[in-house]
Amino acid sequence: MVLHTERLVACEEQGLCDLLEVFSSIQGEGPRVGERHLFVRLAQCDVHCAYCDTPLCHGVHAHARLERTPGRGDFGIVENPIPVDRLCRRVAAALAGAPHCAASLTGGEPLLQPWVIEGLAPTLRAAGVRVLLETDGNLPDAYDRVRGSVDILSLDWKAPSATGEPARYAEHARMLELSGEAEAWVKLVYVAETPDEEIDVAARTVAEVRSDVPFVLQPCTPFARVRSAPSPDLGLRLAEVAARHLGDVRVIPQVHKMLDVL
Ligand code: SF4
Repeated sequence: MVLHTERLVACEEQGLCDLLEVFSSIQGEGPRVGERHLFVRLAQCDVHCAYCDTPLCHGVHAHARLERTPGRGDFGIVENPIPVDRLCRRVAAALAGAPHCAASLTGGEPLLQPWVIEGLAPTLRAAGVRVLLETDGNLPDAYDRVRGSVDILSLDWKAPSATGEPARYAEHARMLELSGEAEAWVKLVYVAETPDEEIDVAARTVAEVRSDVPFVLQPCTPFARVRSAPSPDLGLRLAEVAARHLGDVRVIPQVHKMLDVL
């Protein structure tokens, strides 16, 4: 994992966003699957998951791409980093071009740039869409700073068997606790090798913090270092394990990949 810390510091000082892309599509993950969302994908990430389908997030890019027409994939190029106020104007224009339920702030890890979340939220709310934060769950202090600007928390519970990264369960739990009564869910990507014990610990910990949230098991779509999909039987079994602790357990694959949309 290479985090470009100096670049992030400079971006915050100058009111800039290290951006990858902005586009309109169908939300393909989690309980709000199927909704029309505007995706604002920020650059840089603090982990390196084995299955990461956004490898560009780890690089430094002189340009970002923004869709000209919502949902058409007709991208134009802008200089990156982009001023946050300019990004707000482009996002407002995209939201005016088609009805959206929410704006998904994603990455990379968007909590590496909390000033961007704070800067975007008023524009998003003024346009009548909810602010959905998609996060790897590792940066609870940054979430604490921006949680007033976030309407929906989508927290990835990173299973070491799938990510190849060390467990960060304490950080995940603290972030979930900070979410209070806000709309939230926990999403856990699993692979063929994911053991029952990992799901048991995750679901038990979630139940201790917020037993009301949906717990989404997402079968890993093979990508990068993950070569094969987990079996349907494994999804059923892991859901049974999670249901020992939680009342709302779902198995939801990445639907946008089935639909062949961004
Ligand atoms: S947290 Fe997301 S963006 Fe970061 S490495 Fe993992 S899958 Fe990729």
